[in-house]
Amino acid sequence: MSKKYVYFFGEFAPKDGSIRDLLGGKGAGLTEMTKAGMPVPQGFTITTEACNKYYDDSKKISPDIIEQIYLNVDKLEKISNKKFGDAKNPLLVSVRSGPKFSMPGMMDTVLNLGINDEVCEGLAKLTSNERFAYDSYRRFIQMYADVVESLGKDSFEEILEAQKIKKGAKNDTELTASDLKEIVELYKKKYFELKKENFPTDPKAQLLAAVTAVFRSWNNPRAIYYRKMNDISHDIGTAVNVQMMVFGNMGNDSGTGVAFSRNPANGEDHIYGEFLMNAQGEDVVAGIRTPLDIEELKKINPKVYDEFCKTAKTLERFYKNMQDMEFTIEKGKLYMLQTRNGKRTAQAALKVACDLYDEGLINKKEAVLLVEPSQLDSLLHPTFDTKALKTAKPIGNALPASPGAACGHVVFNAEDAVTWAKDKKPVILVRVETSPEDIEGMYYAKGILTARGGMTSHAAVVARGIGTCCVAGCTALTINEKERFFMLNGSKVKEGDIISLDGSTGNIYIGQIPTVSATISGNFGRVMSWADEIRSLKVRANADTPKDAKTAVGFGAQGIGLTRTEHMFFEETRIEAVREMIVSKTKEQRVKALEKILPMQRTDFEGIYEEMQELPVTIRYLDPPLHEFLPTEEKDIKEIAKKLNITTDELKDVIVKLHEFNPMMGHRGCRLAVSFPEIAEMQTRAVIEAAINVSRRHKDWKITPEIMIPLVGELKELKFVKDIVVKTADEIISKSDIKLNYSVGTMIEIPRAALLADEIAKEADFFSFGTNDLTQMTFGFSRDDAGKFLDSYYDNKIYQNDPFAKIDQIGVGKLVEMATVLGRKTKPNLKVGVCGEHGGDPSSVEFFHKVGLTYVSCSPYRVPVARLAAAHAEIKYPRKK
Ligand code: ADP
Ligand code: MG
Ligand code: MG
Repeated sequence: MSKKYVYFFGEFAPKDGSIRDLLGGKGAGLTEMTKAGMPVPQGFTITTEACNKYYDDSKKISPDIIEQIYLNVDKLEKISNKKFGDAKNPLLVSVRSGPKFSMPGMMDTVLNLGINDEVCEGLAKLTSNERFAYDSYRRFIQMYADVVESLGKDSFEEILEAQKIKKGAKNDTELTASDLKEIVELYKKKYFELKKENFPTDPKAQLLAAVTAVFRSWNNPRAIYYRKMNDISHDIGTAVNVQMMVFGNMGNDSGTGVAFSRNPANGEDHIYGEFLMNAQGEDVVAGIRTPLDIEELKKINPKVYDEFCKTAKTLERFYKNMQDMEFTIEKGKLYMLQTRNGKRTAQAALKVACDLYDEGLINKKEAVLLVEPSQLDSLLHPTFDTKALKTAKPIGNALPASPGAACGHVVFNAEDAVTWAKDKKPVILVRVETSPEDIEGMYYAKGILTARGGMTSHAAVVARGIGTCCVAGCTALTINEKERFFMLNGSKVKEGDIISLDGSTGNIYIGQIPTVSATISGNFGRVMSWADEIRSLKVRANADTPKDAKTAVGFGAQGIGLTRTEHMFFEETRIEAVREMIVSKTKEQRVKALEKILPMQRTDFEGIYEEMQELPVTIRYLDPPLHEFLPTEEKDIKEIAKKLNITTDELKDVIVKLHEFNPMMGHRGCRLAVSFPEIAEMQTRAVIEAAINVSRRHKDWKITPEIMIPLVGELKELKFVKDIVVKTADEIISKSDIKLNYSVGTMIEIPRAALLADEIAKEADFFSFGTNDLTQMTFGFSRDDAGKFLDSYYDNKIYQNDPFAKIDQIGVGKLVEMATVLGRKTKPNLKVGVCGEHGGDPSSVEFFHKVGLTYVSCSPYRVPVARLAAAHAEIKYPRKK
């Protein structure tokens, strides 16, 4: 027997497989409502497998699938007592797309299929409603021409509009039967003109063409784009539902509507929706007439209203989730056409989760699963007033790199950002791209806009880390730094002009858009506490300053997984000493310069320990190549040489010597400590002395510094640096009144280290995967340059996502898993974490949970996201027994 590609509504049995995978979301809903005895017009679902087979068979529907479709048409005819193409009693159907995950507005549907001239006449007689028959006919021609033949909507829309004007009709409902008859004739003519063929009259031919069109619509550009944005696989295909029509356009006792079982904006428990009387299908969403609030239905037809409310509650109980439903009323009788889990704001998601829990409908795990981790982002930053956004018009759009809503005066460099901000003027820093030198300006800016760079560009990473709104990679943006203005799609914006950035959409606006500040409501806290009870993966934060540390603790971080010490070197008051160290010609000079840095760094660490108390803090030693600390502009070089007491030529000489062709793979990380052990020595003193000082202040705290050596690729290399650390630390501790323990671990971010993890673990007290570097070294492309060509990889479906944003599970992930296993072979209780950007990405967190890591560490603002994602992962793949 050939494979089953078509299921009549209600026919599917659980043993057939996963209902959503096979029948799609819409088909699953229709089948489940049918089984529950709800009023659903009968029909059948052509499976997603049929869609995939259509593509495998070079875009042809195979004969066995056609046969199964026709068998189900026969069945539908028998059940409905109507016949395809029978003028006396015609069967009309809708052909509806329905992928597993709803893709609102992305795919196509054809209504009223099965009409031709004779059928239309018959329909008019049968219903004694000529107007209705011709209204259905003209809708069908229009949709068929657009969806099936790609002739577009416009030329048909024009005919309709012209007829409305001619007849003095404001709404389509005012057109009479004979007006509509004329339109149908004009439509058919237009169809012939555009297609050079008559409009097809055979219902079965219409049906196959429509099914093909729906399969085809799976790969229309907007559907592809939507899947990319929402992380939906391109391979799953769409199902097609063929369903008997019910008519909301039969007169004033008929209608159509859409409604949620709860308010999707705030989660309140009441029916929320809209409807139109004497209308069909998409009229409600298309804004042809202004729809009415669903409350009005109570007055127009209280019986139907009650039945609908009851049905909504039943569906909620069945799905244990808020529902989004479509219905039609035909001559006073209610029909359900669709149900799905409703999309909602983060606030609504939290309230619905808590309410359904309190109603006893779901348990804590189910409640936690009702909130999408990535949604929480929007609760943690101030946002624009949605009302104000509706009327505002963006002048451009780019990558929504870091969420938030920012308004401020435009400045073009970091220095100005600092001065203006200190002058109490909020600023938006607009740069071609940012670099570590801009860090202070970025701290002071309300928002950051860059012309270049992707989601993991310097601007994006730093902005997310400090919770500042950032819109990145705006390729349409041209900056004239000299004359201090930028151009964007024809708008000229000068220094000091006010603009607004929306970090959740990437939109750029001129002027100030009012914001509302984020409130962490009670429901938020409740859901997070359930998540914490459930999860086994720990969540730490990446924090470089006491302020970041405080934010992190506030968001529930269980420690710091990464303190980048170089950020401490860039501050105005210190960079001079750092430069002095770099230009030193002898070890003595270098040590002298480092002596100046030591107390500053020690104070930084003390501040962090004060905030974190006994929570673990992992401090990473100096990582970037030294040239990053030196100036590049001629003017700066002169000035700095003077400050350093050397000649311009001498400084230039140092810069030339430090130049590298590929700094990312150059003299950085632990390689610096191998060449200049005194740097590691100074950093060890700063860490250990800080811990001792704070322990002395708080006798009951037990502080255990975690020292992390970056960019290790070889056991002897780690041992070399570790020996310096241990010697320095033990000497200080032995002379101190405080008994201090510390540990020395390493980052695994070079593929060689992952390969030799069992060796490396001999000298490492812990591992932390630096997945940013590990990704770029494994792929062999730089994260700063990959953005330029990765788009063509997405377009050609070679890669689906940015591997710097979502861990590449099969490649880089394999190294992570392997290194974890190898490391624990040497040390069974080895603590293993992740401190790359991936630590805050929900799907990556799930992966890290699955491979058994101890913790993830991410930007403070993503800590709640990671906590919730870790709970989701535990529920789906339990580790706890
Ligand atoms: P979408 O997924 O874009 O919502 P649908 O397949 O749900 O597309 O159909 C679009 C509209 O047509 C919806 O408003 C739906 O209620 C209506 N519709 C679909 N099938 C029928 C039918 N058999 N009878 C009446 N209306 C229908
Ligand atoms: Mg729909
Ligand atoms: Mg690194």
